[in-house]
Amino acid sequence: MSPRKLQNLCAGKWVTSATTEYSNVYNPATGEVIAEHPLSTQSEIDQIIAGAVEAFGPWKRTPVPTRSAIMFRYRHLLTSHSDELAAIITMENGKTNEEAKGELLRAIQYVEHAAAVPETMKGSVTENIGTGVDIEFIREPLGVFAVIAPFNFPAMIPLYFAWAVATGNTVILKPSELCPLTAIRMAELAEEAGLLKGVLSIALGDKTVVERLGTHPDMVGLSFVGSSEIAGIVYKLVTGAGKRCQAQGGAKNHLVVTDTAAIDACMPNIVSSMYGNASQRCFAGSNILVYEQVYDEFLEKLLRLSREFRIGNPTDPSTTLGPVISASARDKFISAINAAEKSGTKLLLDGRGVTVKGCEGGYWVGPTLIESDLSAPEFRNELFGPVRCIAKVSGLNEAIEIINSSNYGHTAVVYTESGGVAREFRQRVDVGQVGVNVGTPAPIAFYPVGGRKSSFYGDLRGRANDAVDFYTDKKIIVSTWHGDLVQSKPVDPAFTGKV
Ligand code: NAD
Repeated sequence: MSPRKLQNLCAGKWVTSATTEYSNVYNPATGEVIAEHPLSTQSEIDQIIAGAVEAFGPWKRTPVPTRSAIMFRYRHLLTSHSDELAAIITMENGKTNEEAKGELLRAIQYVEHAAAVPETMKGSVTENIGTGVDIEFIREPLGVFAVIAPFNFPAMIPLYFAWAVATGNTVILKPSELCPLTAIRMAELAEEAGLLKGVLSIALGDKTVVERLGTHPDMVGLSFVGSSEIAGIVYKLVTGAGKRCQAQGGAKNHLVVTDTAAIDACMPNIVSSMYGNASQRCFAGSNILVYEQVYDEFLEKLLRLSREFRIGNPTDPSTTLGPVISASARDKFISAINAAEKSGTKLLLDGRGVTVKGCEGGYWVGPTLIESDLSAPEFRNELFGPVRCIAKVSGLNEAIEIINSSNYGHTAVVYTESGGVAREFRQRVDVGQVGVNVGTPAPIAFYPVGGRKSSFYGDLRGRANDAVDFYTDKKIIVSTWHGDLVQSKPVDPAFTGKV
């Protein structure tokens, strides 16, 4: 059977692209082509934008509780289709079924928070800000936003759209070309939940689509999640076109194991942060900095647990580590390991040469641990796969210096049972998220997410109330009235135009 040709969602209709250019969507566990993904043309993107512009007026006027009720229905549909969606995530992304279900749980919480829109859309009023003058702000949706997603969370990141549409905007979603199938199925469910036609559109393609969505005169803003390099390019492009932009980038997360850590209790948490989801999480622990006093003991335990991963087909329930996303990602990781080995670095765990019976075409890299030089490329640059570094540090000052000299500023984690150490660490590290004995300090749906330095370009972070701020504008209204019932004349001179 030939692979399914994917379609765009334009003005509420699923449409086959007229392009002749397609990229393949692969099952990373087998290397099999599972779909053909169109690289849509500029005129198709323009039509999608026109549909979203047309839908904006009626959607903006749809009562807020009605939009909220649609979000509740959507939450119900996502939940009742969790098994199906998890299977799609596993097929196109390669994470295990358990990991896919974990992602969905978190993703559905986005919709839960977005459904609180009757509360989050509230404005504010002050009576008599001047004599006889009242002031208020109301929150208004702005128009058409784009959401650009990476491959690693095929459900969670596309669902950024929940906040944008709940607040009354329309959205054009561009999923990753590597993992578009989950987003497409979730869009079908959103239609079923009752979104008006054109409120959510899907534009499939590559950077050309992002560039058009980011600069088209009828677009108002763009929310991007991906690597730092592209986040920087996109942020410049979109803000240069005078539009709102938030661009989440990549990460190099440091986990600091101090001499006051409860090592045994923290070990599963550390190993899961390092290698869970095949290390393809922006919150994954990348560099492990260990106090020299506990280094040998820690390393021995880390190696033992890391060797327990069962690498295999992610559809097999006994698998705990699936493939990496693509052949090119695998080749990049293997090259990095080769280069580290060539430079004389100690390879403590070698993930090269893994094969999985029945999945010979899959993209396999096992847990790899490099005792790295602090200036080595594998220590400084993001490697978005199971190639991790470890280094000895003399204490907290050295660990914090290393963290703060990184180009990234996504997360930093300290393992300690000392409140004083934890307090000093959280105050001094220059990152957006801090973990204390928590290896992946992800804020989930209810708190804003975002790093610093090249890990985040923008000011309003993603998710939660920051998302509501990003997707709405506070319109100020200053008013006075001159009827018979006016009790407090004259109007304050500050509001007469004379001052
Ligand atoms: P990526 O940057 O390659 O792609 C992300 C999106 O950008 C895709 O939709 C892609 O089509 C598009 N894109 C690619 N090149 C482009 C260009 N030149 N111009 C415009 N758009 C372009 O990222 P990825 O490999 O899909 O995802 C992994 C990265 O995402 C990692 O760096 C990871 O750390 C990061 N990430 C960050 C967060 C966060 O919250 N900060 C969350 C998840 C993933």
